[in-house]
Amino acid sequence: MLRNIYRPDDNNYPSFVFDSNFNLLGTYQSQDSQLFKLTPIHYSLKNDKSAFSILAKGNDEEFGVMLISVVFIKPDLRKNVSHGSTKYNYLLGPGVKARWSSPEINIDLCTTDVARYYYAQKAIESWQDAFASSDTKMKFKFSQKRDYPPFSDLNSQCVYFVNNLIREADEKYSNMGTTFLTLDSQAGKIIDSDIIIWDKEINKIRNYYQKEGHEFNEQQFYYETIMHEYGHYLGLDHQFNPNVPSVMSYADTSKIRAYDIEAINELYR
Ligand SMILES: [Zn+2]
Repeated sequence: MLRNIYRPDDNNYPSFVFDSNFNLLGTYQSQDSQLFKLTPIHYSLKNDKSAFSILAKGNDEEFGVMLISVVFIKPDLRKNVSHGSTKYNYLLGPGVKARWSSPEINIDLCTTDVARYYYAQKAIESWQDAFASSDTKMKFKFSQKRDYPPFSDLNSQCVYFVNNLIREADEKYSNMGTTFLTLDSQAGKIIDSDIIIWDKEINKIRNYYQKEGHEFNEQQFYYETIMHEYGHYLGLDHQFNPNVPSVMSYADTSKIRAYDIEAINELYR
């Protein structure tokens, strides 16, 4: 008999259940309790023991091969989400604060590739520079890691570069970067986050530019993508108001703007 079905907040993702032998199985809400087997790849327990994660591989007839990261969180009942000005778009909504527990923000650049390391370094240094002249307690630190766990690990935060996956099947669209965030939405806490840059998506743009006879500046694409994703990593959602310039828009993301600095300072105040 199966008990304790773990349901994620988002209905688009599978639920999980442990069978009597503690094997992890997945199931979709829509498919009448049909179960598929998951093979665990990695396990992590957060240093403060507030959460643990399992990374598993599945092969379901309907959905094909999948990689699933499940995080179980011990809710922080003492704290409620704090609210700030709704001018600022945060991960849980305008003015709703979800943030790292300290304004000292660390991330590792998990690559041995010299060029990619350089692009990520430049992007984070731009955040450091943009804050240098503002009255802030934010500290952005980074270091290079040559040996690192997968993105599901709760004690490691990385910028990863993945070169074997296409995110958008349509060659006219590119999704160059993704920031995966694990939140305790009741407490407004970021539990874990990792940034993945999709090399093949950037290659699509390179191919398009070359076909059209345009010059392609690889450094600029990596730099702007990582700078934008790092904004999500810090706790910012998109800012699509055309009257508010922001690195969190899809328009001009070439630099960090006044809005971005104010939004972060307000978030960690
Ligand atoms: Zn974005």
